[in-house]
Amino acid sequence: MTRQRLTVLGATGSIGVSTLDVVGRHPERYEVLALTGHSRIDVLAEQCIRHRPRFAVVGKVEDVPVLTNRLRAAGVATEVLSGPEALETVAALPEVDAVMAAIVGAAGLRPAIAAARAGKRLLLANKEALVMAGEVFMAEARKAGAVILPIDSEHNAVFQSLPATFGGDLAGCGVRRILLTASGGPFRTLPLDQFSAVTPAQACAHPNWVMGRKISVDSATMMNKGLEVIEAHWLFSAAADKIDVVIHPQSVIHSMVEYVDGSVLAQLGNPDMRTPIAHALAYPERIEAGVASLDLFQVAQLTFERPDLERFPCLGLAYQALRAGGNAPAVLNAANEIAVEAFLAGRLRFDRIGPVIETVLATVPQTAVPDLAAVLAADAAGRAAAATAVANGP
Ligand code: NAD
Ligand code: MG
Repeated sequence: MTRQRLTVLGATGSIGVSTLDVVGRHPERYEVLALTGHSRIDVLAEQCIRHRPRFAVVGKVEDVPVLTNRLRAAGVATEVLSGPEALETVAALPEVDAVMAAIVGAAGLRPAIAAARAGKRLLLANKEALVMAGEVFMAEARKAGAVILPIDSEHNAVFQSLPATFGGDLAGCGVRRILLTASGGPFRTLPLDQFSAVTPAQACAHPNWVMGRKISVDSATMMNKGLEVIEAHWLFSAAADKIDVVIHPQSVIHSMVEYVDGSVLAQLGNPDMRTPIAHALAYPERIEAGVASLDLFQVAQLTFERPDLERFPCLGLAYQALRAGGNAPAVLNAANEIAVEAFLAGRLRFDRIGPVIETVLATVPQTAVPDLAAVLAADAAGRAAAATAVANGP
């Protein structure tokens, strides 16, 4: 068997580490050609020593000699590069078959698009890239014949619950709607009057999943689910009114597809990202992922609730941005990144994240986003307006 050659963008993060865990279980199937990490040079060094990639990319040019020296001392010949352009280079290397896009936030957009343009098999975890640039992104992927496999557990579950022949026409496949499940995060039942005092440590302590800090805060505000609604719109050509959100605190059903005959297909499993990662790596085959069997007796109960939009205004704002179209999703995403960063830095109260995003959506004028330049302009406008809104509030 020829081995699949991989680039892992964001290798040092939560998804990146889980990806290398699965890859390391199947050395006969996968070869790592490039790894990238923005700051955790120690982690990246260990990963390079273990997987021996041809290239590694770091964020800062000062870290190039640091990592290079570490690797040479260990007898590893990996070439170390730095900066945003190097990310695009390793995402589009001619020898690479598949790219795991697991950089967090807007920083992942350009390398993910570079992989799509190069026609790679794209394992997409970086949902912000699709939220910002869905139309441009999907058009580039189509043009280059890039196959996009969703890593986000909900979208991976939807993908698994759709017919294998699905080509973008939900109605033609008899689909009535998509049901995205959400855990509800750590504050599903917290009294509303306590939201103003929520700390970053509390927001990052998710009940079911261990994730990076930004997505953990997004889960706590439920903006994560809002971004996922927009992500589902682009991945599955689904209108906003065909995507419903269901709170399911156990995180065992990862999402569902309802058909016109009343059938509802679901994908279940333990909340472990190695399942969707292994699914996408091996698709259409199946490989061992190191995930324990689902113990339904231990789970015992699966429960469901309607999302409360007063508690979680960010979810409503994401639907609003999706319906508005144009630059609104990119502006929403940018405002959220700035608000979350300010919250994590102690400069913004938790319960002000939603209002900041709402203000930004109301201030930045609506435009179309026909190309990447327009997407980046929308992102910049959203960031500037959000910085002002953060500075103006408590
Ligand atoms: P993380 O914070 O743990 O890791 C982020 C990675 O991106 C790191 O490798 C970091 O070095 C890199 N990075 C950060 N800023 C960068 C920059 N400016 N330039 C280049 N690289 C940069 O995040 P994560 O939880 O692994 O999430 C990664 C992506 O996957 C996010 O888009 C997230 O929404 C998505 N996702 C994560 C999970 C999860 O369980 N963690 C689940 C679904 C989707
Ligand atoms: Mg998800």
